[in-house]
Amino acid sequence: MFEENPQFVAARQRMVDEQLIERGIRDSRVLDAMRRIPRHAFIPPEYHDLAYADGPLPIGNEQTISQPYIVALMTQLLKLTGDEVVLEIGTGSGYQAAVLAQLARHVHTIERFPELAENAKKVLEMLGIKNVTIHVGDGSRGLPQFAPFGAILVTAAAPRAPVALLRQLDAGGRMVIPVGPRGGQVLERWVHTPEGWKQESLTPVAFVPLLGEYGWKEE
Ligand code: SAM
Repeated sequence: MFEENPQFVAARQRMVDEQLIERGIRDSRVLDAMRRIPRHAFIPPEYHDLAYADGPLPIGNEQTISQPYIVALMTQLLKLTGDEVVLEIGTGSGYQAAVLAQLARHVHTIERFPELAENAKKVLEMLGIKNVTIHVGDGSRGLPQFAPFGAILVTAAAPRAPVALLRQLDAGGRMVIPVGPRGGQVLERWVHTPEGWKQESLTPVAFVPLLGEYGWKEE
């Protein structure tokens, strides 16, 4: 059983009220998930004071845990009903996967750094979250052996939406992905409709790059 300091619970409640509801996050299931998951458990202890602040934080290997608002926004855009098998690309700390796990049947998440994947696994185990499978590898290819997915969330920035991932979306499936160069990107949502893939460009964001076969090449 994970016991936490009541100050973290209060800080998290404020985070939901001031950063998410204030900015228009309305899906009550997403808000409940963000109230439930202890973000501080996913970040290094030296940043615990900032765990519920309005920004990204370092998690090692030059990677970051995303800003809470961006986690909530991307999750809301997926319109999860509770029955989906979801693919996340870029496990990082495991926080986004933990939020998705509250809202879907199962989450597969893939990370290229084994150390981050190992750490995320430990935190999810400690929290008793059992419907997440963590994989190590190049997530830009997706996970064809587990496809199709009801939703795909890419948490690193790609040059374009990889067709390899779009092909792994189930009928009616949604994919949310930041697309654009290293300096800044636009969040795109893709929906697999009977007429084909429909794309919307939504809002400017800033993510670390998706590196891999269908992402950016390593320098
Ligand atoms: N979702 C994460 C969380 O909740 O902490 C934050 C993700 S961080 C912004 C982006 C992650 O994508 C990094 O951990 C990075 O190593 C990973 N990444 C980048 N390219 C990848 C690839 N081709 N396959 C898998 N992971 C990748």
